[in-house]
Amino acid sequence: MYDVAVIGGGPAGCYTAYGLAREGFDVVVVEKNGACQQPPVCTGVVGVEAFERFGLPSDSILAQIEDLQFISPSGKLLPYRPGRIQAHVVDRVKFNNGLRKLALESGASLLEGTACLDIRITPNHVELKTASNGDRLRARAAVLACGYNPKMTRKLRLGDIAQSYEGAQAEILMDDLPATEIYLGRNVAPSSFAWAVDLKDGRARVGLITRKGASKFLKLFLDSHFLKGRIKEAGAILWKAIPFGGLERTYSDRLLAVGEVAGQVKTTTHGGIYYGLIAAQAAAETLSQALRHDDLGAPRLQAYERRWRALLEPELQKGQLFRKLFDRLSDTHIDSLFSLALKDGIMDLIHRKAMFDWHGELIASLMEHTFVKRFSSWL
Ligand SMILES: Cc1cc2nc3c(=O)[nH]c(=O)nc-3n(C[C@H](O)[C@H](O)[C@H](O)COP(=O)(O)OP(=O)(O)OC[C@H]3O[C@@H](n4cnc5c(N)ncnc54)[C@H](O)[C@@H]3O)c2cc1C
Repeated sequence: MYDVAVIGGGPAGCYTAYGLAREGFDVVVVEKNGACQQPPVCTGVVGVEAFERFGLPSDSILAQIEDLQFISPSGKLLPYRPGRIQAHVVDRVKFNNGLRKLALESGASLLEGTACLDIRITPNHVELKTASNGDRLRARAAVLACGYNPKMTRKLRLGDIAQSYEGAQAEILMDDLPATEIYLGRNVAPSSFAWAVDLKDGRARVGLITRKGASKFLKLFLDSHFLKGRIKEAGAILWKAIPFGGLERTYSDRLLAVGEVAGQVKTTTHGGIYYGLIAAQAAAETLSQALRHDDLGAPRLQAYERRWRALLEPELQKGQLFRKLFDRLSDTHIDSLFSLALKDGIMDLIHRKAMFDWHGELIASLMEHTFVKRFSSWL
């Protein structure tokens, strides 16, 4: 019998396991992929703040992000040059392996190539049915950190996440980009945005997010005039669903949900690594106390939900508000915003308020700006 079984060896699962093992608990991470994992569908952009706060694996860093170039539907350019490195771009396999090593070195065990097929919660323990040998694995508590999985959360009576998007990405051979490119427009990535992130070795990760049909939109984007002639070779397009907003309930008796499965993903850029790590820390702290008191019932574990929501919910809500407004913009609106942003002090405001991982303050300030107020009244 383990103290805790963590389902999923991604960033959220590994960091929770690390936090618990460091406190002396007997933790096992159950990961369905084998040691030679496929790279996750992810651009691997992780803010400098996250790297410093969590001591993330620096050997996974491939490139840095400093300048951004926003591109409007008609091709207008809006540069953003903050004058400092904002984020690192990581090799996601090395990043995951680094976090797995951190958990292992703190004393956690890892069962790779072992899928959790079912979870049964009894009054005295949690039982996981695993695929490797059909055995059952027992623990005093479990942490669900398996990435977005509505079927699993519904079955465990944790409810649903109201909305989702789709993200698609391909690795491309192309000349080095002077800045990370962000494309807006209904024909490119309706309801969200597309990007080209340089890996500084002749490769770039080009991707986009939309409500539906991300792969189809990415194929069109790769063939569009924005990229035509710049691509030397395009890799396969891979896609994945991304939750939008928090899971109804992230705890029950002997169980916590952490990371993407819990909807702990930015509602502005859809990045999930940093918020998953923040929640993982809260989960490990709450569970450690509950294990020590041998009180693993839902009323005690509810403290985790209160903690992570206090840290992340205001950001998630402001992002949702921003998206609602953004959804109403036509390509003509976006183009006008590009022209006006340079004139009306908006870029100054962005320079003063923008933070790579926290967007709530900037959104609140923008909403109060007379120009944005005037603009939204036209919509
Ligand atoms: C196109 C795209 C680009 C993105 N780019 C970024 C980015 O640049 N920056 C960023 O922060 N976020 C990005 N994201 C989101 C980010 O990838 C996720 O939010 C993040 O990986 C979530 O971490 P996690 O640990 O919660 O889940 P995951 O990373 O999904 O890890 C879950 C783990 O659980 C395992 N697992 C699943 N089911 C089971 C099971 N039944 N039994 C055992 N193991 C199981 C999986 O194999 C996996 O290893 C992007 C997403 C997409 C789609």
